[in-house]
Amino acid sequence: MLKVVGMGPGELRAASSEAVAAVEEAQVVVGYSTYLRPLGRLLEGREVVASSMMKEVERCRIALERAAAGERVALISGGDAGIYGMAGLVLELCRERGLVPGRHLSLEVIPGIPALSAGAALLGAPLMHDFAVVSLSDLLTPWEVIERRIEGAAAADFVLVIYNPRSRRRQWQLGRAREVILRHRSPETPVGMVKRAYREGQEVVVSSLAELPEEAVDMQTILFVGNSRSWSWQGLMVTPRGYGDKYRL
Ligand code: SAH
Repeated sequence: MLKVVGMGPGELRAASSEAVAAVEEAQVVVGYSTYLRPLGRLLEGREVVASSMMKEVERCRIALERAAAGERVALISGGDAGIYGMAGLVLELCRERGLVPGRHLSLEVIPGIPALSAGAALLGAPLMHDFAVVSLSDLLTPWEVIERRIEGAAAADFVLVIYNPRSRRRQWQLGRAREVILRHRSPETPVGMVKRAYREGQEVVVSSLAELPEEAVDMQTILFVGNSRSWSWQGLMVTPRGYGDKYRL
């Protein structure tokens, strides 16, 4: 039995009770060490297979093999397992190996609070209208594809949520993304920056496309670029749904 478990953005309080139960009933817990840390005492008495960042395929392969051999396995993802998480890779491997869920093994994906919901909640209400989500990581996706999607979303006036915005090894992509967005959006457009949501050292900053402090952005940051109607107020960020046009507030 394999459960691919989204543990939420950080500390255990932001994990669903179903996710916690999935870990509690597992014999083997597999995951990236950063995402395992918040589990703390939940891991006691279980076999833990921790691996480093670049080992996703290996991690999923181990989880699948152990589950196919009859063990109860929880494969841990941060946030939601199906949003830049482990669920897709597990299913790709299953298809590749002819392992049919429900026939050759029992497989379940347990949802979790994604960083975009956690970050939005901390900022106020930036996602009250249509939004698009883009990851700036060009490790698995060609930059041309990423840029085309940013351009399309910016042109269509979507609020933009940006995952994987900047790392030690990927520095120029954020500046480039900002240039593309600025073709369609004013420099005053609010940008919400949330670092380490629901983790120790959490930070929430609202700035603008012109003033975004790029050097402060890292891999534990998620960004929210407003649409043409988003506003900031008292350190919060809001995208109006349209009630104010229709009703007297
Ligand atoms: N499955 C996760 C996303 C994994 S991709 C989810 O559903 O949210 C990793 C990226 O997610 C990070 O680079 C960062 O942009 C974002 N992220 C994940 N957790 C975060 C947190 N606690 N605070 C801010 N951003 C976070």
